[in-house]
Amino acid sequence: MNSLPALLQKAQETRVAIGHFNISDMVLLKAVFAAAQEVKVPVLVGLSEGERDFVGTRQVAALVKSLREEFDFPIFLNADHTHSLAKGMEAAKAGFDSIVFDLSALPFEENVRQTRQAVEALKSIHPGMLVEGEIGDIGTGSEIHDKSPDLSKGLSTPQEAKQFVDSTGVDILAPAVGNMHGMLKSMVHGETRKHLDIERIAAIKQAAGVFLTLHGGSGTADEDLRKAIAAGINIVHINTELRVAWRHGLEQGLAKHPDEVVPYKILPPAVDAVREVVASRLRLFNGERTAAQGA
Ligand SMILES: [Zn+2]
Repeated sequence: MNSLPALLQKAQETRVAIGHFNISDMVLLKAVFAAAQEVKVPVLVGLSEGERDFVGTRQVAALVKSLREEFDFPIFLNADHTHSLAKGMEAAKAGFDSIVFDLSALPFEENVRQTRQAVEALKSIHPGMLVEGEIGDIGTGSEIHDKSPDLSKGLSTPQEAKQFVDSTGVDILAPAVGNMHGMLKSMVHGETRKHLDIERIAAIKQAAGVFLTLHGGSGTADEDLRKAIAAGINIVHINTELRVAWRHGLEQGLAKHPDEVVPYKILPPAVDAVREVVASRLRLFNGERTAAQGA
């Protein structure tokens, strides 16, 4: 089976993106894996520090490894938004395939200095681990926000992207290009959509020359995601859309069986609701429209 770096390279050449979906329980993991099997494309599952604390860092590594081996399927594991080297080392030791080392809240020079140290330290423990660095401001919290934060001052420039990549040695860069963590209520209801700065993505790609990740993909207009991938995005993160589907599915399961106490009888609508969202996003990231057109 292909390694994650080889699959990213292949995605880059064919102008598609690998979907990254956050999980924090078995319902989400089952749903993401089922969707990837259905669409027949590689997939990344990610857990932030909070999500890892809940599931268990070594435990989720064992779960994902068992799926990869038993089904001979390209499912990979990412340590999402990791803010300290200690937490990063924990994930490296557990065998995570990649890590998002996120010190974007620090001043740029400090972010560069500590990210460079982390790249060295993490690769000395786990040489095959891909390290992603973060620049700019895309807000925090994959949740439903009441109002939109002002992120206009935190947009990344091609110059700082190049400087960051050259000085840190990261394999992957996550820039701020109009994307935002979480969703507004109006986005959940489909009344508004996020829009991306496509020209900025293309300029950053050219300057930085590494794989690019788009965080906060939930609620983004389909057309903007297609254009972002064509402009050089290789990984797209979706979390909040899954959390919304998880909750709706769970509520449906409970409403359908008001007196039931057996989890595996209550939870299937939650698995189905999340699976549908993931499958539809995977189709989009893998250029289904192009395939359908026979291009
Ligand atoms: Zn993120």
